[in-house]
Amino acid sequence: MQQFVEEKIITPVKGKFDVIVAGGGPAGVCAALSAARNGMKVLLVERFSCLGGMWTSGLVNPLFDYENKGGIVREIVEIINSAGMNDHSGPMYTFDIEYMKLALDRLLRDAGVKVLFHTMFTAPLLTCDNDIYGITVENKSGRSAYLAERVIDCTGDGDVAARSGAPFCVGRDSDGACQPMTLMFTISHMDYVQRANNPYSTHTDLYHVMCDGLAAAGVNDYSFNFENPWLLKLPGLHRGVLQMTHMRGYDPLDPEQLSLAEAEGRERVWEALAFFRRYCPEFKNAQIEQTAAMIGVRESRRITGEYELTLDDITEGRKFRDGITTCCFGVDIHEPDGKAQTVGIVSRPYQIPYRCLVPKNVGNLLTAGRCISGSHEAHASYRVTGDCAAMGQAAGTAAAMSVIKNISPRELDGAEVAGKMIVDGARI
Ligand SMILES: Cc1cc2nc3c(=O)[nH]c(=O)nc-3n(C[C@H](O)[C@H](O)[C@H](O)COP(=O)(O)OP(=O)(O)OC[C@H]3O[C@@H](n4cnc5c(N)ncnc54)[C@H](O)[C@@H]3O)c2cc1C
Repeated sequence: MQQFVEEKIITPVKGKFDVIVAGGGPAGVCAALSAARNGMKVLLVERFSCLGGMWTSGLVNPLFDYENKGGIVREIVEIINSAGMNDHSGPMYTFDIEYMKLALDRLLRDAGVKVLFHTMFTAPLLTCDNDIYGITVENKSGRSAYLAERVIDCTGDGDVAARSGAPFCVGRDSDGACQPMTLMFTISHMDYVQRANNPYSTHTDLYHVMCDGLAAAGVNDYSFNFENPWLLKLPGLHRGVLQMTHMRGYDPLDPEQLSLAEAEGRERVWEALAFFRRYCPEFKNAQIEQTAAMIGVRESRRITGEYELTLDDITEGRKFRDGITTCCFGVDIHEPDGKAQTVGIVSRPYQIPYRCLVPKNVGNLLTAGRCISGSHEAHASYRVTGDCAAMGQAAGTAAAMSVIKNISPRELDGAEVAGKMIVDGARI
């Protein structure tokens, strides 16, 4: 028989803000910054101890699809570059993960954003009409509430929107399966840089290095966990970050399964190190620096908004009257039940309409980042961090404009949001 606990909870209200941002990843940082720079009093709550989300706690590099954006993401890249904390000796732009944390702290501090680390969003505060007017959080002080005119959900998983009653989808249409999760890790003391021009027609350069090592040792029955492993060289000497462990079949929204996936991830990281040391001379002295604070969840809830971006929009390179950013990244699907990665090239850049950031059924709420409204296939393109950062800037700008105009985000004209972003340095 199911048991219940009845609680009487009296929750102190600790503050009132114009805009609250839940989650401090690429989307959340840019949302908070743009709202604050547009005159709003802003609170950002983050469950971990630093800003950056997958950029930092997740150890993700490189920063994809920022080149055409301008705006806040370009500003972040320029701060990193001017400090010499970037690397371009491998095939892609990478940044120093620790310096990213510092740069984001400084940006939000200088804009006057109040940041609460070690603080978990727990529940929305909703009127009878389902307009959000604040959130409750849990942290070392216990449970407390913060009120706001607008809330922006940048939790990646769409926690705020889902708990507010917005409709959402999970995974691919056929069976709800999500792309696999990956525990990222960094290593030191290696003598390898992935070649800028991969000479092979299939698989990554690193995969072939690994195969060569197996062939030299006469091993022909090794089973790869993932057949497109990437090692990106990080700034500094002989350091890199690896994307190669794939955990399949786990539900990213079930804490018991997430816990199992994290543990499997650590097993696979140490297996990888043992493999490299044994078979690849380039890695004979390699050491693990760290594993990510959180397993990388590629895909979970996609919150249904006023428009759902589709694969067709992407392949057709569609532009929208309310387009708030232009994306160029391919449709990158790590197969939920295979070892391959399918990357479709986007031949014509496409736009994300503002309506994808406006969830159905909830008032005064916006979403930004990987949880916005789109299909499984479309999400596999716009989920990269440059695009999430631009969505964040759009959501923060929209939240501020809707407060100033005293209209709901749903009534706001997305074309005006884009216009304001251009004034603020973004390229749409
Ligand atoms: C393994 C992997 C590799 C990837 N590789 C690349 C790559 O090479 N380049 C690239 O550009 N993109 C890459 N991506 C995609 C990209 O990292 C994510 O899609 C992107 O970071 C999403 O941004 P976001 O701001 O929406 O969410 P996130 O970066 O996930 O940030 C969400 C933030 O919200 C916080 N949060 C979550 N729930 C709560 C809560 N309830 N209360 C308080 N805080 C909360 C989290 O701690 C986190 O800081 C990769 C993704 C994965 C998983």
